Amino acid sequence: MLQAMTRSLQSKLILALVLAVLIPTTIISVYTDRTSTSLLIDNARQEESSALVVATSQIVTKLGDAENNVLFVSQTSTTKDYANLLSGNRRTTDKTVNALAEAQTALLRSFLTNTGGAFRRIYVLDAQGYLRIGVDNEAGTLALMVADDQEDRAKEPYFSEAVNLIPGQVYGSNVELSMTKGHIEKPYAPIIYYSTPIFDDYNNTAGVIVSELDVHHVFATVVKHDLNQQWLIVDSDGSYVWHPVASKLYGRMLGHRTRLSTDQPQDATVIFGMDTGDLVRSQERPDTLQTFTRMTPPDQPNIDWRLVKQRSLHSIYGAVSQSRRTICVLALVLLSVALVVGSLLVRSVVQPIRSLYNTAQAIMLGNLTQHVEVTSKDELGQLAVAFNEMTTAIQKRETDLRQQAEELRIATAQAKEASRLKDEFLAVMSHELRTPLNAIIGFAGILSISKNLDPQVLHKIRRIRSNGERLLTLISDILDISRIESGRMQLTNTPISIRQLVERLDAQMNVLGEEKGLAFKVQVDDAVPQLIEVDQDAMTKITTNLLSNAFKFTEKGEVSLQVLRQGSTLVIQVSDTCIGIPAHMHEIIFETFRQVDSSSTRKYGGSGLGLAIVRQLCNTMNGTVQVSSEVGQGSTFTVTLPIHAYTQLAGSPA
Ligand code: ADP
Repeated sequence: MLQAMTRSLQSKLILALVLAVLIPTTIISVYTDRTSTSLLIDNARQEESSALVVATSQIVTKLGDAENNVLFVSQTSTTKDYANLLSGNRRTTDKTVNALAEAQTALLRSFLTNTGGAFRRIYVLDAQGYLRIGVDNEAGTLALMVADDQEDRAKEPYFSEAVNLIPGQVYGSNVELSMTKGHIEKPYAPIIYYSTPIFDDYNNTAGVIVSELDVHHVFATVVKHDLNQQWLIVDSDGSYVWHPVASKLYGRMLGHRTRLSTDQPQDATVIFGMDTGDLVRSQERPDTLQTFTRMTPPDQPNIDWRLVKQRSLHSIYGAVSQSRRTICVLALVLLSVALVVGSLLVRSVVQPIRSLYNTAQAIMLGNLTQHVEVTSKDELGQLAVAFNEMTTAIQKRETDLRQQAEELRIATAQAKEASRLKDEFLAVMSHELRTPLNAIIGFAGILSISKNLDPQVLHKIRRIRSNGERLLTLISDILDISRIESGRMQLTNTPISIRQLVERLDAQMNVLGEEKGLAFKVQVDDAVPQLIEVDQDAMTKITTNLLSNAFKFTEKGEVSLQVLRQGSTLVIQVSDTCIGIPAHMHEIIFETFRQVDSSSTRKYGGSGLGLAIVRQLCNTMNGTVQVSSEVGQGSTFTVTLPIHAYTQLAGSPA
């Protein structure tokens, strides 16, 4: 039982500790998780929008630079000389033509070199749109675009749009694919044309200088893809200008329909519906957040792009998962520590309780020398000390009790011995008293029937006899009560006829009745069995004592004896019609030497032992005796005795 009790105490304490650790840890974890998640999202938002701002401004700067560079070349004196040559303002010889062409070529060459490969080509068209001179950056080798290559480019927008511009203005195209002799070059080379007119000394347009800006060169360093993020640059018609998958690029020029609006139609609606958006969750790719902005570089009306940066949710929540993992590990460590500390703590509490229980068990089995080991000074230690003090007190009390029991045993033995001596004394004394008394009564009897004695002497002799008889009765009553009380009265049940017993008593008591002029009624109910198994002497004594009292205390009227059967009980009722007994004496009269009125001893005689003997005998025979009486009305004594099995089998109603 203790095992179960301590185990439940143990588990309760450990559970309490675990909860004490788990609940705050969980609250802190949830709070930290929420805060760190929103912080991380805020960070990511800032990161993304600033990345977009940086990328946009870098691209715009690069495009602006390209524009300025072309403008710068167009305004150099070398170009001016060449423009005068083209418009025929200068007197020319072959020598000067060549010199001016060479100077211009050198200028264009240095332009390509100085711009670090940002431009693929630069060339000069004359006022009619023919290619006159140019330099081609073919994989880092600057090749001359020779005069044989003269082509009519008059219809190209970079000529037709630029030729009418005023000084200082530059035409910029949208993204185009580089062409050679009317065909798209392969591999595809995306470019933006920047062209501006050149003027002769009379400010007449002498031609157009055209540069081809390498778009890859602009984007490559600015918008780089990696595993967690990718960039899209989308043209105003939704086709991709920049995309990690090469085959999706330049749909507008190549005539295929790969567009943002086909890949991510819902997202396209959002992206084209607003100029900017922060970490908008993609509808088509739920694991992606998109940040986007519209980009329209100043003075470049042909460019209207959307820069879209897509970032995987995972890359943002990666840090959250990491912090969650850390929190989980921390919680586990805390839990383990709590369990270990808890187990040690619980053991330190449960061990002393177990020790107390074992000692209590040992004490219960009588081992009072057992003591609890005191291992600490805390409350449990104090409990152990108190327990030990209690054990010592119990031990002392038990010793005292043993001593008292021994004294009691000796006293009981002495009392028994005294009682034995008293009985012995009574037996001897009664014998010693009865013998001379019988002699006195006998001789007085003989003398009382003598005829030649003086009447006065005769009277005295009769008194001697009657007093002797009273004394004999008293002695035998004392002897009886003493035998009954000491338990030495042996009752022997034998089948007797109640009717014969009653007849005998009738004969005896009638004499008394006649002396006092009282009627004596006797009745035995038919239901009373013929033979009843009972101790005859005891039965006779009970009935005689009750009848003697009835006759003794009744002056007039009648005395009756009634014997009934009630089920398995024999009922004997003795009633009289005289003085009665007050209610408060109904119990007391059954005690030894107790009488209603001690003066009655003198009047009626008696010693107060008759009823005590009746009750003791009834008790010994498993029966009862009760009185119902009213002063002046008479009394009824009722004795009930069990009728034995023998009687029930052998006897039958008379
Ligand atoms: P005693 O020898 O005095 O009759 P008992 O024990 O027989 O002793 O009776 C005790 C007392 O009970 C009597 O002294 C008497 O006062 C009262 N008593 C007994 N029987 C009767 C009775 N039938 N009527 C009135 N009083 C009675």
